[in-house]
Amino acid sequence: MTKYNFSAGPACLPKDVILSINKEAFNYKNSGMSVFEISHRSEYIMDLFEESTSRIQTLLKIPSNYKVLWLPGGASLQFSMVPLNLMNKGDKADYIETGSWSTKAINECLKVGEVNIAASSKSSNFSYIPKNCNQSNESIYTHITSNNTIYGTQYKKFPDGINKNSFLVADMSSDILSRPLNVNDFGLIYAGAQKNIGIAGVTLVILREDIIQSSHQTLPSMLDYKIHIKNDSMYNTPPVFCVYVLNETLKWINKLGGLESIQSMNNTKAELLYNEIDENKLFRCPVSHEDRSNMNAVFTFSDQSKNDNDFLDFCSKKGLMTLKGHRSVGGFRASIYNAMPIQGVKELTKAMREYSKK
Ligand SMILES: *Cc1c(COP(=O)(O)O)cnc(C)c1O
Repeated sequence: MTKYNFSAGPACLPKDVILSINKEAFNYKNSGMSVFEISHRSEYIMDLFEESTSRIQTLLKIPSNYKVLWLPGGASLQFSMVPLNLMNKGDKADYIETGSWSTKAINECLKVGEVNIAASSKSSNFSYIPKNCNQSNESIYTHITSNNTIYGTQYKKFPDGINKNSFLVADMSSDILSRPLNVNDFGLIYAGAQKNIGIAGVTLVILREDIIQSSHQTLPSMLDYKIHIKNDSMYNTPPVFCVYVLNETLKWINKLGGLESIQSMNNTKAELLYNEIDENKLFRCPVSHEDRSNMNAVFTFSDQSKNDNDFLDFCSKKGLMTLKGHRSVGGFRASIYNAMPIQGVKELTKAMREYSKK
């Protein structure tokens, strides 16, 4: 039986990528060596890093005044690195609070500087994306979470920075490369790889070089963007295998026709699933219609007294795995990232219909 993994992260990888790993894990580019054991100072791996950087630059049409970094520590480390590198002592930043991840980002920024919560949807359990923001004139940047993995909301239009010198910073961990993007709208973008572009262990950071403050505080080297830029993401031993998997994922995206094609496939999958949720009386989606995520579809039983586990068991017997909702929302969550085949979504909607007839 084909299994479909709807996990929110680590999440399903494209089959092509798994096949490449299977092959090259043991013999990388006919070197006779495994990709696990090749030195990051070798030409093989220097080329690999260059290739990944160049692929991402092309896919996202990244302007030349932006740097691309491959860093360890997950998106969670970026919650700290962003304020540490972009703020000076006494500076302020705007944050839009749209879920647990943005709350964590806010808490890390508070250790470094002042935070203005420019907007929040907390009082409605993060079921929508705030449209009106109260940004401060003095803020260095405005931080958003482009897709809220846990609550199933996603920005369809990004907010504007309020003053000329301000810029947007975005955590795109769960929707990076799911759609075309205008990188120029942002000062900095970061994304952990394990949702949409690979496996856990590497984080993509795209930043405009001029926004880095000449901080008077001396940062630990590993937390300093300038050091990572100077060393082409190889200041210390980088997560070579993670970058390898990421590069294979980028190849796969290119093979499918790039970000426009990916976006249209993602729209089709999301439409299929949300249509079923809306039309099937047994289920409902707690998220405001226009903000529904194309990556993480959150839904519950209309009658909340029903037993979630019974439906989850029903699904897993059909090979539809990891559909349990996050504990802060309950119900179900189907993560339908780039790598989820449309067939997986079709099987899920079929199972929803069958279950409702039971
Ligand atoms: C998963 C996730 C994170 C956390 O990523 P780590 O790699 O665990 O640090 C942060 N932000 C968003 C939007 C996420 O989905």
